[in-house]
Amino acid sequence: MSTFDPAERNKSLPARVTAVLYRISQAMNHLLRARGEAAGLSPAQIQALLFLRYARPGVRTIGGLAARLGATYATTSGVADALERKQLLKRQPLPEDRRTVTLQLTAKGRHEAESVEDVLSEVEAAIASLPEAEQEALQRAAQAIVLRLQAAGHVRVYEMCWGCRFFQRDAHPEDPRGPHHCAFVDAPLPEEETVFECPDFVPASV
Ligand code: SF4
Repeated sequence: MSTFDPAERNKSLPARVTAVLYRISQAMNHLLRARGEAAGLSPAQIQALLFLRYARPGVRTIGGLAARLGATYATTSGVADALERKQLLKRQPLPEDRRTVTLQLTAKGRHEAESVEDVLSEVEAAIASLPEAEQEALQRAAQAIVLRLQAAGHVRVYEMCWGCRFFQRDAHPEDPRGPHHCAFVDAPLPEEETVFECPDFVPASV
């Protein structure tokens, strides 16, 4: 099985599909780079802005960002320093534990994150042009591939609470800290935090 040898690839459907997925990932990288050049941001800086906009508040740290970028602490710190110099983020100690420093978007950073929101819209438009049944089949197939890659440790999936195995809906509706419960961190979850992306998400159906 070979994705890169065209002659070999022609003999294998999985190899041909892998090559197609590789091209799509190249297109996504190109879109990120092109948008970054226009905005004076590197692809890693764009990913950092989107991470800080959507990730669960508890993981908005250098460690959380390093996991998301798949980079070292030193590299991630460099990304955060560059964004701080551009006044797009600020470092802030947690009030309840001042040893933990969180990364927070500034108003300018939030605005910048919003403006790169549509960076993959061309990919989305290409998918939207397919018949709905093909979009659904593509989603099922792509999810199955991602699950396998996740189990092998090649990708970390960030999703919202609602489909997570650890999510306990309305576990304590009167609790002022939040009506829901996260069994992973064993803590209440306010409604507004259930829509953030979390690296500890595990699909309820697995
Ligand atoms: S582990 Fe699951 S329930 Fe807990 S915060 Fe993450 S996504 Fe939500």
